[in-house]
Amino acid sequence: MTVLSSYIAGDWRPGGNVGTDLNPARPREVVAEVHQADPQTASDAVEAARDAFPAWRALPAPARGDILRKAADQLEQRADTIGTDLTREEGKTLAEGIGETRRAAAILRYYAGQTLEPDGETFPSASPRTFLYARREPVGVVVVISPWNFPIAIPAWKIAPALAYGNTVVFKPAELVPLTAVRLVEALQDAGLPAGVLNLVLGRSAVIGGMLTNHPGVDAITFTGSNATGRAIQLEATTRGAKVQLELGGKNPAVVLADADLSLAAEQVARAAFLSAGQKCTATSRVIVETPILQSFSDRLVSLATSWRLGDPLAADTRIGPLVSEERLQTVMGYLKDGGGGGRFLCGGTRAEELGEGYFIRPTVVSEVDPNLRLARDEIFGPVAVLLPVSSYEDAIALANDTPFGLSASVFTRDLGKAMRFAQDIQAGVVKINQESAGIEFQAPFGGTKGSSSGQREQGKAAREFFTQWKTVYMDPPVSA
Ligand code: NAD
Repeated sequence: MTVLSSYIAGDWRPGGNVGTDLNPARPREVVAEVHQADPQTASDAVEAARDAFPAWRALPAPARGDILRKAADQLEQRADTIGTDLTREEGKTLAEGIGETRRAAAILRYYAGQTLEPDGETFPSASPRTFLYARREPVGVVVVISPWNFPIAIPAWKIAPALAYGNTVVFKPAELVPLTAVRLVEALQDAGLPAGVLNLVLGRSAVIGGMLTNHPGVDAITFTGSNATGRAIQLEATTRGAKVQLELGGKNPAVVLADADLSLAAEQVARAAFLSAGQKCTATSRVIVETPILQSFSDRLVSLATSWRLGDPLAADTRIGPLVSEERLQTVMGYLKDGGGGGRFLCGGTRAEELGEGYFIRPTVVSEVDPNLRLARDEIFGPVAVLLPVSSYEDAIALANDTPFGLSASVFTRDLGKAMRFAQDIQAGVVKINQESAGIEFQAPFGGTKGSSSGQREQGKAAREFFTQWKTVYMDPPVSA
């Protein structure tokens, strides 16, 4: 049996209660046993990161990059086994698990490259004697709190820039995915990361969360997860002066206009709504369709939803795996019970009992939904697409923006003018034109607007804004001549 523990100051630290990491496709299968950290261990992790900070920030940035590059190589070499571990504990398909691991490697490599980029600017001073420059410096100790749905890519796109720019890290992964978190830390450990620069705390957030977010030794917290948790952490941590970055939920619209290529639109919407069982923050869950094409579009979408194979995520021909946990299954089924409170199920709406005890829900398409229903307003985080008919572009935009969220959005049209208007009118951090709302590239800024984010951006060069702070230097010659 694989046994997992926290990693503090360069040592794996067993002890405390032992929990289990289960396979959501076969919940009786224990993937690993997990030693759960207590608050003291969480505090030790912060202290270890504080102790390691002076030497890590003093290491020339290119040398930090060399370590990230070696860790990327480790991940790449182990992508098949790590991807399998990821699939076994999270439930996305093996192709997605391996693909996500390779993406994490590419992210580490990208930020290794960023350590060779300019780290400051010079300014013309009003004084002829003065050399005026500003340099980006690390923030200090960063706590990384990540969700379970991208268990290696999201930690990588937080940890890699944090380390590249000279910060030290305490990593608290979601409780459902400790094995993938350990695999990521092992890759960095094997790449030669000095002790204490990256610390891993495995355990229940109810027990260790407060210690991490309220610890005075923590300078910054980068969080991806649900709105409720994120906003509570933001309130507490910013009150004591810590820097906080939040990436939260979405209720992402796909707008299908009457002139769209319907085969393309249906395929892309199905991918965004159903792959990874709809458990992506950028998943499409509201499909806003112009009335003249509603029937032909929904026929195509239902045809895909009912033909894509649902099943064991380790099987090669599976397109859609289970939800991640019993709790998530119950939550999603709660939205679907009693016909979703109104609306007509065109397909799905039920648990796939024939697949055994795994947390499988059939891809679901619901039409004739009142836009005010919870089904049409809440983030469901399951394989559920709600169809909302509209009679014009203006109605589509109004409905698409009628949400507290603003993460991603897509539009399908052959009309370049409408596509350009949509990119301007839509309230979202990511806009896709004739592409699914899910799926992003790490070299470009990523994040939401409105209730989906705290406003900063992750990934690409944009990540520097959060993980560094400016120091401005006015330098005059030491003598008055
Ligand atoms: P969650 O809020 O339940 O948990 C997120 C993380 O916070 C986990 O590591 C959890 O253990 C930790 N946590 C919970 N309570 C805490 C506390 N009091 N103190 C410290 N840490 C605490 O979210 P989840 O269910 O893991 O993830 C799903 C959510 O994440 C969805 O809302 C989804 O949209 C969102 N998400 C957003 C993005 C994005 O980039 N915007 C990406 C992926 C997922």
